[in-house]
Amino acid sequence: MAGHRFFKTALTRVGVLSLVLALAFVFGPGTSAEVNGGLAPVYNGILISWDGVQRDHLRELLEAGQLPNLQALIDEGTIVEIDVTHKTDTKAGHAQMLTGYGPEVTGVYSNAVYRSIPKGYTIFERLENALGEDNIATVMITGKAGNLGSKGPEWAGPGRPGGANRWKPGWNGPVATARLRDRLEKSGISQAEIQERLEKVFGDDKVGRAIVGFIMKAPARLRETLLVARKRGIYELRAKDRAGDYSERRTENGAKEKQTRNQATQAAGPGLVSAEGLKDILRRTQAEPFYNAKPAIDLFEGDMSRTADEVGNLALASLDRYGSGRFFAFFHFSDPDHAGHRYGENSSEYSKAIITVDEWLGRVVAKLKELGIYERTRIYVTSDHGMDEGKTSHAMAPHVFLATNDPGIKRRGDQRDIVPTILSQMGIDLSKITPALPGRLLTQPERAW
Ligand SMILES: [Zn+2]
Repeated sequence: MAGHRFFKTALTRVGVLSLVLALAFVFGPGTSAEVNGGLAPVYNGILISWDGVQRDHLRELLEAGQLPNLQALIDEGTIVEIDVTHKTDTKAGHAQMLTGYGPEVTGVYSNAVYRSIPKGYTIFERLENALGEDNIATVMITGKAGNLGSKGPEWAGPGRPGGANRWKPGWNGPVATARLRDRLEKSGISQAEIQERLEKVFGDDKVGRAIVGFIMKAPARLRETLLVARKRGIYELRAKDRAGDYSERRTENGAKEKQTRNQATQAAGPGLVSAEGLKDILRRTQAEPFYNAKPAIDLFEGDMSRTADEVGNLALASLDRYGSGRFFAFFHFSDPDHAGHRYGENSSEYSKAIITVDEWLGRVVAKLKELGIYERTRIYVTSDHGMDEGKTSHAMAPHVFLATNDPGIKRRGDQRDIVPTILSQMGIDLSKITPALPGRLLTQPERAW
């Protein structure tokens, strides 16, 4: 009986007045408007990100009755359209979704151009700081490495010798993690076949074999970095270098420039053939977005690729662990994005991935009910970006959504509105937050200006 435990704690800690307030929101009217109307704020918040879910596709699935758990949430609250007004990718989307700031404040412009979000700016830190760290537990469970990652010091530090001009802070290794792992590890192909495919990519000469040998043995993160190095033109540079007197190289902004064979060889350096060189590349890359936030988050389960089942089970365990107190949790499901990239927006696989994460939403709700804390928990489901119509990309995919059991949500808005809305619903005084949050409350009527 979680309800009884909750009573006792409230009674012994803060006395009768608090008990009355607690009663008001545990047993009081179920609508957020009344709960938030001066009695007490939203007690627990759960923000769920379904990575890469296109609004129109979601609408079709909802209308076809294929997302019963999201529909149940909407029946209690609402669903509104959310637009994204920055680069539509994972890093930029989650940086804004979890801070309320745009890239000009967070420094997270895209998967490729970013830095660690300044200390104190994430919703986790805002809640911990405003409520007191003993008064709320914060949880962050993610399904992707890198883009929502927290890797820091050992990765950071520009200006190291040997090509630091190429490896400026601002892009990072694990950019291609998800697709890569999908392709190589989760497709059920054998180690021998992976090796064969890699040899086709890197070449069957001495250098190529050394790279493939390293990839097959290297820890996952080094492997990711290698393949990103290749994606960024570093490997192409070597290959072309061998083929002629000069080669093309890609600069940081993607422009191609010609350089001499010597320059090319120097720039490529030992990075692709020796473990030491690879480690040096890793050290030179920028700290990941949640590097500064991680120490403030009570339970951080990130920095690796996870399936919906893995994220979901961790999510349920976190509710078991923190559900008796007050908490804010962020659960990130990467599966729709992976399916979209692999099979396309119009594929049945993409639909299936969204249905899978909807099933996990259902299990989260069931867990909250089992713990007796559903009534005091608001769930917000959104996406970092959409998916290009009929394509395997999300280059221009700003159309997402916010679905919730919080009936206080009244209108459509911008991704930057989500954080101030949740903070406000949870009783945080936004006027004390600096820099000022640019978003507007989704609980307030839309302003024409
Ligand atoms: Zn993606």
